[in-house]
Amino acid sequence: MKKQSMVARKNMDEIRIENLEVYAYHGVYQEETEKGQPFFVNAVLYTDTTPAALTDELTLATNYGDVCHFISEWMKEHTCQLIETVAENVAREILLRYPLILEVDLEIRKPKAPIGLPFGCVSVKIHRSWHTVYLSIGSNMGDRQQYLEQAIDALRDHAQIKVGRVSEWVNTKPYGEVEQQDFLNGIVEIHTLLTPQELLEELHRIEAAAGRERLVHWGPRTLDLDIVFYDDLVYEAKDLTIPHVDMANRYFVLKPLSQMIPYYVHPVIGKNVNQLLQELNSAE
Ligand code: AMP
Repeated sequence: MKKQSMVARKNMDEIRIENLEVYAYHGVYQEETEKGQPFFVNAVLYTDTTPAALTDELTLATNYGDVCHFISEWMKEHTCQLIETVAENVAREILLRYPLILEVDLEIRKPKAPIGLPFGCVSVKIHRSWHTVYLSIGSNMGDRQQYLEQAIDALRDHAQIKVGRVSEWVNTKPYGEVEQQDFLNGIVEIHTLLTPQELLEELHRIEAAAGRERLVHWGPRTLDLDIVFYDDLVYEAKDLTIPHVDMANRYFVLKPLSQMIPYYVHPVIGKNVNQLLQELNSAE
């Protein structure tokens, strides 16, 4: 099935690195960490090469030589028991250091692993990428706009989060029975390396730092941060549902979202954001 994209998807061209040899000290056995052995690395760096290609401009390209040196140095400077750990760390560092690389395939091969049987090679291969996420953000206590802006700064300060577009703020009447001030709401687009659960933890940390207390359900709050969409993910856990379970009933989510990704199709409901907003408006 073709994956739909949340934002106008860039070309996904590939820069390939094959069999980069690195002598390093990863392994469980003492002999491996003391004497070392050769590792071979294959990497596919997914990027849009068009801007560099059309201008022949070095600064618009990812320097694959630099990436090779980075991989080699990282693997020599660290000692991990597992090649899984090597792959995870190197993939994450590549995505953090080289902003034009959006996704990476990384294979760490260990042809001299001490197995005690004749074999060709063992390897671990992973795929890691930046994820596009839409967060709903709201406040209805104190200086609402300042709480929202501080939350966006806190997101920006996180090494594994890049803040993209921020919607206009929408003023809305509160939901439920509790007597309280109007809400100021919006949507923040982020790109992140965090998993959904890691991101939820980070959102809770930012809410707590804003002095949010979970006292009354649907009661007043200094800051509320929810995950609306996380790529095309459909995810259900005890403490987290993605897409957000109530988003289709929330004007303050759909209205700002429709300005950013009007044609993005909800992966469960099968309707795009504009259609969901129209349906909500006509139901009221
Ligand atoms: P709220 O009062 O809106 O902040 O939501 C309270 C709880 O909803 C959080 O502590 C989460 O565990 C849970 N939750 C479920 N789905 C989501 C989601 N998509 N985004 C954020 N929180 C969620």
